[in-house]
Amino acid sequence: MEKIRFILNLGLLAVLLAACQPAAATADPGIVMTAAIETAFAQINVPTSTLIPTETPIPTATVPRTPPALPSAFTTTVLHPLDTPHTYIQDSCQYLKAKWDPNHAAPGTIVLVIMFHGINKDSSSLDANDITVKDFDKLMGSLKELGFEAINATQLADFLDSNAPIPKRSVVLTYDDRHTAEAFEHFRPYYEQWGWPVINGWISAFGADDQFLQENVVLSKEGWVDYQAHGVIHNINISPNSTDEFIRSELQGSIDNLKKHFEKTPVAYIWPGGGFTPRGAQVAREVGYRVGFTVNPRGPIMFNWIPLADAPDAGRPAFIPEGPVNDPRLTLPRYWPTQVLGALDTIRIMGNDAAAYAEQNKATELEYYDIVCAPILGSIPGMP
Ligand SMILES: [Zn+2]
Repeated sequence: MEKIRFILNLGLLAVLLAACQPAAATADPGIVMTAAIETAFAQINVPTSTLIPTETPIPTATVPRTPPALPSAFTTTVLHPLDTPHTYIQDSCQYLKAKWDPNHAAPGTIVLVIMFHGINKDSSSLDANDITVKDFDKLMGSLKELGFEAINATQLADFLDSNAPIPKRSVVLTYDDRHTAEAFEHFRPYYEQWGWPVINGWISAFGADDQFLQENVVLSKEGWVDYQAHGVIHNINISPNSTDEFIRSELQGSIDNLKKHFEKTPVAYIWPGGGFTPRGAQVAREVGYRVGFTVNPRGPIMFNWIPLADAPDAGRPAFIPEGPVNDPRLTLPRYWPTQVLGALDTIRIMGNDAAAYAEQNKATELEYYDIVCAPILGSIPGMP
């Protein structure tokens, strides 16, 4: 954001140096700059049809408004020191407008993504990535108790893109890989009681004669299981060695299959095996995905705030660094279910802290918006 503001200022300076050449030769450059900014905005505000040349404001006669410095992004000591919050909206004005619109999600709205792989009746057959039915029910109960509500993939994408309203504490439940329709019965009570959706990370390897496909198509018609893309071949991860042909067949192939059998265009790509690359993400954007999920449990996410790592980390060698992709929404972190219970209270507090930090900076951000952004984007609805 720093760079963008700098460019914006440069742009203004260029416009204004051209407009105010004679004055600039004698006046203090600082005064000329701020006065010039005011002149430029005054000119923007006056509709061309009513512009009367003799009424052009005289900059030296009024007190110039200097935009305040914007506060830095919210930080927390709770994350791993190598997992740092990344923003993805470059334009400060667009960001502030989406953030403070009272019809949007409130600042501090926080989302936790959980990746389920297996939910088993007893612990004897339990894989390290699985969870018992008992622990699953306990987890769902704790989420509800702490004020979390589940959202689907499109709600998440809308929230991340434009801060569209979602519950202040949201959870995205993802269930990867091939499951029978019956496997989703674990989630049904939570849909029926609380309206909670669950994302099915669907593997598109099989055709119309596949039994799993047939029963999942029936289930999908109920509307609460949100089928999203999880590759075609699936068992080969996208890696730096992947050909463009392979990447495209996985990403576009998933879309084609879901469209054909589920009459649905997916918005989320769940990277099989957690494998992604900058090229993979580029193609994912190109074919239309809006969000992507990794298997890196770095933390919860907020609007324009995704915790990611920029470099490999010897302490956690399995975690592919997301920074080089440079598209945080396509490399979203997810928690293993076994990690969630212990993290819930921290996540709740993190959301509260982010909300408090936003409130503390609200006046400054709105003043900045009023001076720099309102002339371009218009005022924020409901704001003075
Ligand atoms: Zn998988």
